[in-house]
Amino acid sequence: MKDVITRFAPSPTGYLHIGGVRTALISWAYAKKHNGQFILRIEDTDKERSTPQAIEAIKDGIQWLELINDGPIYFQTQRIARYSDVIKKMLEDGHAYYCYSSKEELDQTREDNMKLGKKPKYDGKWRPENNKTLPDIPEDIKPVIRFKNPIQGSVTWVDLVKGKITINNEELDDFIIARSDGSPTYNFCVVIDDWDMKITHVIRGDDHINNTPRQINLLAALEAPIPHYAHLSMILGEDGQKLSKRHGAVSVMTYKDHGYLPEALKNYLARLGWSHGDDEIFDMSELCEWFDFKNVTSSSAQFSKEKLDWINNYYIKNKDTDELSALIKKILLKNKFDNLDDKKITDAINLFKERANNLNELAQNLAFFFKPPKASKELIKKYFNQNTLELLSLFFKDLEGHGLSEATIDEYIKSFVKLNEIKFPSIAMPLRIIIVGTDQSPSVGSIISILSIDESLRRYNEFLKQYD
Ligand code: GLU
Repeated sequence: MKDVITRFAPSPTGYLHIGGVRTALISWAYAKKHNGQFILRIEDTDKERSTPQAIEAIKDGIQWLELINDGPIYFQTQRIARYSDVIKKMLEDGHAYYCYSSKEELDQTREDNMKLGKKPKYDGKWRPENNKTLPDIPEDIKPVIRFKNPIQGSVTWVDLVKGKITINNEELDDFIIARSDGSPTYNFCVVIDDWDMKITHVIRGDDHINNTPRQINLLAALEAPIPHYAHLSMILGEDGQKLSKRHGAVSVMTYKDHGYLPEALKNYLARLGWSHGDDEIFDMSELCEWFDFKNVTSSSAQFSKEKLDWINNYYIKNKDTDELSALIKKILLKNKFDNLDDKKITDAINLFKERANNLNELAQNLAFFFKPPKASKELIKKYFNQNTLELLSLFFKDLEGHGLSEATIDEYIKSFVKLNEIKFPSIAMPLRIIIVGTDQSPSVGSIISILSIDESLRRYNEFLKQYD
């Protein structure tokens, strides 16, 4: 295969959608698999809808996920001169023509076609043909430029995801390549860019399938090579509808804010609609090695937060401890926690990470180490009575008196339970309420040994003051 060049070509009109990220990821992986290049091209010709914030959002997302592009970032707005040159040449070569039809005329044709049950289609009034006399040019109309699409025959391509697709040229319009103000249109710029950038594989969402026959005809007219096309299916929400804002987070940076690890999100998105046997967990080098369009499903993929959480939990559990501590510390600092002791953070993470679906949850679960908690009245009512208070008093008196060390606290709790002939929860639960602020946590002995006996005692005394 000749050098593979793929591209991600987002329009900067909003946040970077999770579906777009999957397209970028597959394009990136396919290029890397073949030691090729992955190009980032910002399709910003729609001046009204493109914003600098959206461009930043794309860059941020790409960087966070480390889907690093080869070469510079291309911007269509910086290539306008090139588009004009090609349009000029197409006019000269007879592949394009000026169209002076007014909006009213076009509306009328559309309406007439609809009445006849036909597809709304340009009527070819200004299309030059042999032996055809064109109407007089009206003075008050600024023309658009249309591509002279073949009338006969059909366009066929073998889509790497959807299989063979054939579209009759009859169904296609002479589409506009330059608007009346001279600005080139989307379908035109994409073609010139794919051609100039020597793109070998156009990988994009299947909402672009309709554009493909038009783009192929245009490339053929320009005698440009036709790339391979791979149209990835949509991502659907859990209700089977196209994934959109009302399903919750769709912007990639929201996933960062919600405590997802980039490696987990990439693993999840790659697996969505693609498989390699039963493998659920794989890293990016495995993805690049294993990826094959044969194993991409052509039907829509359904987003599952539960599965994403499961994968995120896996990556959290297996992340390098120092890296994980640094991420958690950052979240705690952002939430105005101070006196953050690195060792305590690391020990606490090791105790809590098994259960965490995301980094925010993990940070929140171990926040009590750094700020004394306040248990709810309901919990206190549920777990405390005179008997509990007496047990606790005994427990802490002994704890203080025996000069116990943090390392032996677990043993101490066990022997306390035995000696007093009580059930384990009778002491563990109230301890949790006082120290953690909830009735659910990993081993309370381990917690005390990380928090320190002194601080546990302090929290107990504080609790007593409020309990009175
Ligand atoms: N700019 C288009 C979009 O954001 C993608 C064009 C393409 O991939 O060909 O939907």
